[in-house]
Order: sequence, then structure tokens, then C-alpha cells
Amino acid sequence: MLYIECPWCGFRDDEEFHYGGEAHIQRPTDPNELNDEEFSEYLYLKSNPKGVILERWLHSRGCRRWFNVLRNTVTNEITEIYPIDTLPNSKEGTEYYGQNWRRKSSVEKTIKPREYK
Ligand SMILES: [Zn+2]
Repeated sequence: MLYIECPWCGFRDDEEFHYGGEAHIQRPTDPNELNDEEFSEYLYLKSNPKGVILERWLHSRGCRRWFNVLRNTVTNEITEIYPIDTLPNSKEGTEYYGQNWRRKSSVEKTIKPREYK
């Protein structure tokens, strides 16, 4: 069983939450500028690491708010929880974000980087 600490409600059972996929995937500003391969990369390629990953979670049976989580997929240990419109603060989270293949993807090369707070 996984307990997740909602930033607003505190620790709750994972049954109260909805997994929202990988965090920090930027949408292309104009999908028509991408070729089929680039759009397919954006839409279908997902990170599936053995280790830490940045994810989005929704407290669907609670406050219904989204937030980001740094979770280890092997141990299920959650080491950082931070607002949806910000970047991770921890060393581990910052390294994962910077080294993620999406930072060099065709989509992110063609768009203006999203501004985080
Ligand atoms: Zn909540």
C-alpha cells in the first residue's frame, strides 16, 4: 500500500488518488509544425525508468487538486512533493528533470520552454 502526502490534505491512502502520468511534458504550441515522427514522440513515448521519476497525481477523492511527486519506481519511496506549476527543488529531482530525454526531444526544441515559478 502506498501513502501519498497531499500538500493540502496530508497523508492519505493511494486509493484516494489518480495517477496522472509523467510530469513536465510540454505540449507543442503548434502541432502542425511537427512531422509525424516528432508528434508521435510527444504523444506516445513515455519514460519508464527503474528508479526515480517525476509524476503528476490528482487527489481525486479529496481536494481534487493536482501536484507533482518524485517517486522511486522500485521502492515506491516518495522523496519530494511540489506544486504542479513549479520544478523540483531536491537534488535528485533537479537532476532527473535536467537529464530526462524530453529536454532534448524534437518537441521541446521547437517550442518556447514553459515558464515555471
Ligand atoms: Zn488533497
